[in-house]
Amino acid sequence: MSHLVTGIGQLVTNDPAVGDGSPLGLLEHAAIVVEDDRIAWVGSASTAPSADTSTDLTGRAVVPGFVDSHSHLVFAGDRAGEFAARMTGEPYTGGGIATTMAATRAASDEELLAHVRSLVAEMRAQGTTTVEIKSGYGLDVEEEARALRIAAQVTSEVTFLGAHVVPPAMRDRRDEYVKLVAGEMLEACAPYARWADVFCEPASTYAFDGDETRTVLTACAAAGLELRVHGNQLSAGPGVQIAVELDAASVDHCTHLTDADVAALGSAGSRLDLENPATGTVSTLLPGVEFSTRSPYPDARRLLAAGAVVALASDCNPGSCFTSSMPLVIALAVREMGMSPAEALWSATLGGAIALRRNDIGRIRVGARADLTVLDAPSYLHLAYRPGVPLARAL
Ligand SMILES: [Zn+2]
Repeated sequence: MSHLVTGIGQLVTNDPAVGDGSPLGLLEHAAIVVEDDRIAWVGSASTAPSADTSTDLTGRAVVPGFVDSHSHLVFAGDRAGEFAARMTGEPYTGGGIATTMAATRAASDEELLAHVRSLVAEMRAQGTTTVEIKSGYGLDVEEEARALRIAAQVTSEVTFLGAHVVPPAMRDRRDEYVKLVAGEMLEACAPYARWADVFCEPASTYAFDGDETRTVLTACAAAGLELRVHGNQLSAGPGVQIAVELDAASVDHCTHLTDADVAALGSAGSRLDLENPATGTVSTLLPGVEFSTRSPYPDARRLLAAGAVVALASDCNPGSCFTSSMPLVIALAVREMGMSPAEALWSATLGGAIALRRNDIGRIRVGARADLTVLDAPSYLHLAYRPGVPLARAL
């Protein structure tokens, strides 16, 4: 079965070889033919081939489906009260994760899966077609493996985050917990995960310092997992340097960076093969977190000027940022981090795909997955120009 999508007023392909030659590869008055789940043809609507069925978008814009490369969707309960306290002056420390841990452990598999599915549906309704999902609210061997089994039912981008925080019961036995994560827990979790991640944050008593981070990531890499890092969120710690050194696919947050960190991310970016990203480290920015914790935003311009490849993601989680909206993230990136609308869209689509080392998503071209997001607007510019308006949906 082939399906023709025509009447596309503006098409963002992320393929500089077509259209206006910009990184977004813009085509006006375009059409796409989809066969099964793949793109079979892209070009001008006036030269489109016929297909078995068709949809006319009557001038709407189409962009690649958003690639949300960082989320924590396997959890129960919410922390609206903690959010309210923060908005009346309490700082964010990561300590509330233990609240979610207790609620998650108390929930059944069916409850957790239904909740994940509802959040993924919420994301799709806002244009996200790929989502990475981490564990990290189980924090013991059985519960972490359970979270990953549940995540694997809705995405292939599953991340083992046993090293999210040290659970409260083991706070005075940190060494023992690190040993558990890098040993028995990893062994139980590796079959369900593609990725491993660590919350590297020496300024927090809950998260992991440089040595602990290295221990966990090294063990995970030896077990065949690819790496990601939560780094430099609350302070300029060693997360970025460890991520680049261990060839993590992405270091996420990047809020507090030294000049050496920026230089490392810049040279990591220039080493990335955007067509076939098998090695190299993306800088993933999560401005929803700064918005929701009322914190200073990362400096996207400093990273871009250094040559870093920047991705944008939601970090959807019940504590520091409970939004599933990539359009909101794009609007924040433009308004608060100085990114242009074009840069922000690229980072929320192809940037995310590269952060997941994928070459089949994030672009609209022949052979790629037919992950299309339609906007109730004539141009992608409306994503940032009309913040908070529900314009985007996965087709
Ligand atoms: Zn996170």
